[in-house]
Amino acid sequence: MPMTDSPPLPASTWPQLQPGWVWLCGAGPGDPGLLTLHGLNALRQADVIVYDALVETAILDWAPQARQIYAGKRGGKPSAKQRDISLHLVDLARAGHRVLRLKGGDPFVFGRGGEEAQTLVQHGVPIRIIPGISAGIGGLAYAGIPVTHRDVNQSVTFVTGHDQSGETPTSLDWQAISKGSQVIVIYMGMKHIARIAAALRDAGRPASEPAAVVTTATTGDQRVLETTLGTIEADIDTARLEPPAIICIGRSVLMRQVLDWQSMAAGNAPRNLDPLGRGRPAESA
Ligand code: SAH
Repeated sequence: MPMTDSPPLPASTWPQLQPGWVWLCGAGPGDPGLLTLHGLNALRQADVIVYDALVETAILDWAPQARQIYAGKRGGKPSAKQRDISLHLVDLARAGHRVLRLKGGDPFVFGRGGEEAQTLVQHGVPIRIIPGISAGIGGLAYAGIPVTHRDVNQSVTFVTGHDQSGETPTSLDWQAISKGSQVIVIYMGMKHIARIAAALRDAGRPASEPAAVVTTATTGDQRVLETTLGTIEADIDTARLEPPAIICIGRSVLMRQVLDWQSMAAGNAPRNLDPLGRGRPAESA
C-alpha cells in the first residue's frame, strides 16, 4: 500500500519548533521520500524556511504556510554570502519566527551546517539539528552501489573536490587517501576530476579501477556513469554529465551489476549475479 497522509506521523513526542528557534535540517539528496520524519515535523511548523539550491523544491509543498526564502549558491564560488545567510537566520530568529534552515543531504556533511549553527549559537539563538541522508550514501544506494561492502572495503573516505576558493583542497593528501581507503566518495568533484583522478593514479591506484559518477541522484533525472579511474574525465565529457554529482572510486562500484535495483524494477535482468567473482553464495562466511 502506498503511504497515505493519515495517520500523518507515528505516535511519538514530536518536538515543537518554538518562535525564535532555528532548526537546521537535512532534506536528503532529492527524492522527497528520503526526508526524515523530524524533517516533516519541522516543515509543518515552520513559518520561515531558508533553503538551498540542492533542496528538492517538492519538499517545500509540505510547508504551504511558510514563507520560503531561497539561499542558493552553487559551484564552490567564494561565498561572501555564507555569513550573510547565517546572519539572516539570526535576524529571522530574533524577529520571533519559527525558522527552518533546510539544506541538501545532511546539514553537517560538506554543507557548512556547522558554521551556520556556530554563528547562531554565538548570537544566542537556540538550535536543533536534524540529520539527513547524505548524497554520498543515499545517492550511491539509489545507483545500486553499497558504500561499504564486506568483500571490498572496511573503511570509506568522503572527500570534497574543491575548497572554499574553488580549488582542489590543498589540505588533502591524495597519497595517503589513495593508500588508506579502498573506497573514495567525492563530493563536488566534477570541476577538478581530471586532477583528482591523476593524483590518485600517481599515488598508485590503477587506471582500471572501477569508478562511478551519479548525477542528480535520487531524482527523476538521476544518471549513472560506470567508468574507470583511467577514463573518467573523457567519459564524463562524452556523456555530458553535469553537477551535482557524487563520484565513487573503488570496487564497490562493481556491485551495481547485481544491485541496480532501479533497472531491475523496470524489468531488466541483473547483469551479473557475482560481479566480484566470489564464486559462492553472497552470505557465506
Ligand atoms: N550536505 C550535502 C552535500 C553538500 S555539498 C549532503 O550531505 O549530501 C554539494 C555536493 O553534494 C554536490 O556538489 C554533489 O557532489 C553532492 N550532491 C548533493 N546532492 C546530490 C545529488 N542529488 N546527486 C548527486 N550529488 C549530490
